[in-house]
Amino acid sequence: MSIFEKKSKTKDHRFYITLRVFAGFCAFFLLLLLERVGIIYKYPHPVINLVSADEKSANKKAVGDTTCLLIVDSNNETSLADRNEFEQILKDMRIAYDLEDLADKKGHLEELNKYKTIVYATTDVSAMGNTLLDMVEWVADGGSMLFALPLQKTNELNVIGPNVGIEESGYEYSMVDTFLPTEDFMLGGGQVYKIQDGYESALTVGLSDKCNVYATTADGSVPIIWEKDYKNGRFVVCNFAYCQKAYRGVYAAAYSLLGDSCVYPVINASTYYLDDFPSPVPQGDGTYIERDYHMQTADFYSSVWWPDMLTLAEEHDIQYTGLIIETYEGNTSEKLNSNLSTADFYYYGNMLLNRGGTLGYHGYNHQPLCGPNYTYEEDHGYKVWESFDAMHNAMDELERFSKSIFTGAEFAVYVPPSNILSDEGRYMLGHDYDDIKCIASTYFEGNDAYTQEFEVAEDGIVETPRIISGGILDDYMRFSAFSELNFHFVNSHFIHPDDLLDADRGAALGWETLKGNLSNYMEWLDKSAPDIRHVTGNSMAGAVQRYSMLSCDKEEKENEIILDFKGVSDEAYCFIRLNRGKAGEVTGGSIKNLVGDLYLLKIDDDKVTIVIDH
Ligand SMILES: [Zn+2]
Repeated sequence: MSIFEKKSKTKDHRFYITLRVFAGFCAFFLLLLLERVGIIYKYPHPVINLVSADEKSANKKAVGDTTCLLIVDSNNETSLADRNEFEQILKDMRIAYDLEDLADKKGHLEELNKYKTIVYATTDVSAMGNTLLDMVEWVADGGSMLFALPLQKTNELNVIGPNVGIEESGYEYSMVDTFLPTEDFMLGGGQVYKIQDGYESALTVGLSDKCNVYATTADGSVPIIWEKDYKNGRFVVCNFAYCQKAYRGVYAAAYSLLGDSCVYPVINASTYYLDDFPSPVPQGDGTYIERDYHMQTADFYSSVWWPDMLTLAEEHDIQYTGLIIETYEGNTSEKLNSNLSTADFYYYGNMLLNRGGTLGYHGYNHQPLCGPNYTYEEDHGYKVWESFDAMHNAMDELERFSKSIFTGAEFAVYVPPSNILSDEGRYMLGHDYDDIKCIASTYFEGNDAYTQEFEVAEDGIVETPRIISGGILDDYMRFSAFSELNFHFVNSHFIHPDDLLDADRGAALGWETLKGNLSNYMEWLDKSAPDIRHVTGNSMAGAVQRYSMLSCDKEEKENEIILDFKGVSDEAYCFIRLNRGKAGEVTGGSIKNLVGDLYLLKIDDDKVTIVIDH
């Protein structure tokens, strides 16, 4: 070997060492970069795209024979107030029903044999007059009847009491400020749910030991839902006075105890929204952030809040839907300035997208889409837009801004600022913005609120309301979440990063507490509904659309249930309560036992047959 060769070998050697070090650095940087944008985290999540437009026409249609009679009484204040809720509950469950108003008889009570179930949505059985005993006979012959509200103690109730399991009753009402469903009855069962502003509202009763009790108050002293077989039929009593949107799941669950089986469509989806994210760093009172973290607001979001939110997402398998705000300037004129500081939008937005999340529109600024003729019912500190064009320009600018940063991303979700949206603004979104497929506002009423049901609107926009929000998660929110999990099999929560700047949204409690509540809620959901689909806001729209389209006709035989579905495009979901027998072999779909007699059916075909094992 010559000296020259040796030299060149040493050179080569050095060159390779340098190359390796360089490659090592490159790999390290790449890893840092990947970690920073989050590409490392990719979960296989269901993507539920919307189906074609003509199929949207069927919205919650009940099909098949009308076998349910809903009895109300316009002369009874409670019945009058609760009637709409009961109608909506039956509509959402696709139960085809006739309505009988005891104040204005329509003659349905003369043809009871037509029906398999009765929902008695008033409080006084004496309003039935002579037909009360016909109804008891009808149950004896195989009918199933739900007394859906706490009953008044009357002589007539004393007469039929033993048939419905009531051995003794009192004139005073019992306090109901907690609800404890048995473990096997509902999702999230076996634990206590507090009722905000509960009052003495339940009939005080002593029940016969022939009753099956499904729910009581926390101490077990007040029975809330029970069932009593009577000859060939069944009575169910729902001794629960809070017939409001937040408690629908209780009534739906009570109804499902009627008959041999109950089948109803559900959404099967869970999602979490981040309002005002990405956005400029929110302005506000940073007192509590300074108190707990000794940091500026911007540093708190980048080094505490966002990493914590990502950790929660990872632990609970969540893909957030972030809602963009371009600027916090309150300009509502026709001439708007574009926000030129886009670095934070790139950083946070891409990290969210790369972790399987999605982005939607919240606003050019945080001013609701309300034109010059709109008058706010309450002073929220908002202005109106100078003109329709100004409102339109603002949406155009937000669209331009968002698409210039996140090229190729889909913006299907619109969330109204503070859940406020005028009719004019709503019309504009449905007619002028093809990208927007769904609006995620709120499930509950409020001043100026754009209140929604889970449904498809006439203009094809899917209404995907948010049920709960924030990090306080009080008793009312917890009950609402529990109720909707059991009614629509859905979870929908949103949080604002600037909660930490607002005392009304829990700023004084501090982020550690709010995060703890949030984490505790997510754990509750994971445990109560391990099978629910975890989706983005876009896929929530697909899930709600399929739910809205679905209707079911049921034929019960001795050893099988035959289900004839309308509106199945690819797959859809139903809850099934089996009050007699267990689910065996299934064709046309697949079934999973959730708790007790409650099952989740995945429907693959228009026709599903379930064998019932006795
Ligand atoms: Zn907002």
